[in-house]
Amino acid sequence: MLTNRQLFLQHVGQTSDQPLMLEIERAEGIYMYDTRGQQYIDLISGVSVNNIGHRHPAVVEAVEEQMEKYMHLMVYGEMVQSPQVKLAKYLNDLLPEQLDSVYFVNSGSEAMEGALKLAKRFTGRPHIKAFKHAYHGSTHGALSVLGNEDMKRAFRPLMPGIEHLTFNDFACLDAIDEHTACVVVEPIQAEAGIIEPQNSFLQALRERCDEVGALLIFDEVQVGLGRTGKLFAFEHYQVVPDIMTLAKGLGGGMPIGAFVAPKKMMDCLKTNPMLGHITTFGGHPVSCAASLATLKVIHEEHLAEKAVAKGQRFREKLHHKAIHEIRGKGLFLAIELNDKQLLKRFMDEAFKEHLVMDWFLFCETAFRIAPPLILDNYQIDEIVKKILVALNRAETA
Ligand code: PMP
Repeated sequence: MLTNRQLFLQHVGQTSDQPLMLEIERAEGIYMYDTRGQQYIDLISGVSVNNIGHRHPAVVEAVEEQMEKYMHLMVYGEMVQSPQVKLAKYLNDLLPEQLDSVYFVNSGSEAMEGALKLAKRFTGRPHIKAFKHAYHGSTHGALSVLGNEDMKRAFRPLMPGIEHLTFNDFACLDAIDEHTACVVVEPIQAEAGIIEPQNSFLQALRERCDEVGALLIFDEVQVGLGRTGKLFAFEHYQVVPDIMTLAKGLGGGMPIGAFVAPKKMMDCLKTNPMLGHITTFGGHPVSCAASLATLKVIHEEHLAEKAVAKGQRFREKLHHKAIHEIRGKGLFLAIELNDKQLLKRFMDEAFKEHLVMDWFLFCETAFRIAPPLILDNYQIDEIVKKILVALNRAETA
């Protein structure tokens, strides 16, 4: 008899030679439990998804309630589905006034596809600017704007007309011109190792886009939903995008994505051609119900604001000679070790401490701290202790 682990490797499509291989039986709050009953701490929220923890009771209740009524009814955009309507309205009320139309999809990549298409359709322009070391998803369009050639080479040709600029480099701004449909940017670069905009870079981007009539797209897929200490990361910088993408934490553990834009812009997807963007499952009613419950928890329990003090607690307690720098905001932190081999040993040791951790796609010397926002001070202290133990062992290994 093959074990589940063997069957996983044999029959489930693999993406790496070193999968984590944890087999989880159940998960609750910040904890996951494997089939032997061992407890693990989720220090990365399933990569920025479980911002309100695993199986939050409000989400479970909303899912169960919606399941009793209906699941899939019809492809997107035809029927009035109250979970979609309520979620769109709730989101719009939390956003700046002009961002008043939400198109629901299934994932972050798909949200980026929709956003790029909308920008091209609305402006009628051919070119797109994006940034080096940015991650925007794995589908062809999203991969085209992703800023790392190693991940793209094997899949070329990708979309034409795309140029990658350097984040925080003001000299690049001149490349944005009258042929540019849009500029795509993460307000805080996540997979680059948590790189914040410096010296009002986002303001300068906004101004340059306005000068030449290009649209500004913010990818809030990873940094949104309270993670950085604001509901949306762009709120730190007083810059409002024309289009915003969301996913990951939006569903509280259920799959959903969205791109948000002004209604007059979004409406152009209705004509020339009609059905300018369509999806079968986008805005699935059960995911929308879960998402509304998630947003209410984040908003009503002030989880974004509380993430600031919690992040600060990590910063104050995480002192170790191997740590060169702590970057980031709120509960979205990059711990820079400046040493690839040490980081590898640390990750192995941290796993032995039952911390579920992750590094960054485009930064080889730092690890991330991005736990569910609901964790308490006691849990923070417990995590810090484990990290320090793992760092000590990694140094002497
Ligand atoms: N944008 C960003 C910033 C992301 O971090 C990710 C996922 N890591 C995506 C887009 C793509 O999201 P998904 O995996 O849901 O397609």
